[in-house]
Amino acid sequence: MQTQALFCHGEKDLRLGMTALDAPTDNQIDVRVERGGICGSDLHYYAHGGFGVIRIQQPMILGHETAGIIEAVGKNVTKAKVGDRIALNPSLHCGKCSYCEAGLHHHCADMRFYGSAMRNPHIHGAFRDRIIIEQQQAEIIPAHVSPEEAALCEPLAVCLHAVTRAGSLFGKKVLITGCGPIGALTLLAARYAGASHITVLDIAEKARKTALDLGADEALDSRGDLSVYKQNKGFFDVCFEASGNNQAFLTAIELLKPQSTIVQLGLGGEFTFPVNALVAKELAWRGTFRFDSEFALAAKLVSKQVLNLKPLISDVLPLKDYQKAFDLALDKGKSMKVQLAFS
Ligand SMILES: [Zn+2]
Ligand SMILES: [Zn+2]
Repeated sequence: MQTQALFCHGEKDLRLGMTALDAPTDNQIDVRVERGGICGSDLHYYAHGGFGVIRIQQPMILGHETAGIIEAVGKNVTKAKVGDRIALNPSLHCGKCSYCEAGLHHHCADMRFYGSAMRNPHIHGAFRDRIIIEQQQAEIIPAHVSPEEAALCEPLAVCLHAVTRAGSLFGKKVLITGCGPIGALTLLAARYAGASHITVLDIAEKARKTALDLGADEALDSRGDLSVYKQNKGFFDVCFEASGNNQAFLTAIELLKPQSTIVQLGLGGEFTFPVNALVAKELAWRGTFRFDSEFALAAKLVSKQVLNLKPLISDVLPLKDYQKAFDLALDKGKSMKVQLAFS
């Protein structure tokens, strides 16, 4: 059997095509995909044919932020049943390497992550009408939760992991630079973790408005006058740098108090870094990458509907309008999270 899928053939070259759909084996699940969010990495493959040294070498199915309904299960599957709505965890670790044994599954030396050209042959993604997954990739989402919200589990997991990298946020003043979908979900995750004050910086008015809708204390234009936050060596305890923009990063350093932490979410090629400020303010600059157990936590929070996710979903377009959807997702002035609706 065959199923329809969205392939990236290279820069600015997306095409619908067919791919094989086998019957699920004993531990596998056959899923009818409902929604798929377009992520920054999908946009990099589309707009530039890759990022950094990673290039698309052969046509690759995009997508790793998906939710769907179970069509069939293998005979050993106990976790879920036909008809259940699930969020799909796009990461498959080997379970055998030294990192897996140490519990650092997201650093698996043999990681297979959906829609990634980091390996050759590439690992195909989940932008397809039907997909076969392993049982452990499924997290059940109750039927009354929308598929749009369910498809946010993956980026939410990324942001929950970023929050764990920051240490305790309880009662802390948090700065978020860049409020696209990842900055916005970090805002929700930081509030859930106890942040008492959250300020968002973004140059796009749409992003600032969404941040306020999601409960930010304030949302400011990063090019405006921020001198009040620079007084007395800074104001914020923690920064989540979600823009990947060097200037936003330099601004954040001026607004942070001594001994504060910057968690770097945004990818941004080369950054200039003011070493003197790092030393004099005793700052900590930490990276954060993907997620591990946070995917199950994200599914729990989405299931309980404790986070106000809906303002974040700006557009849902049918798969056939993939070109329009990707161009819209690239336009930060017009969109937040853009999702594709599958059959
Ligand atoms: Zn993503
Ligand atoms: Zn491994």
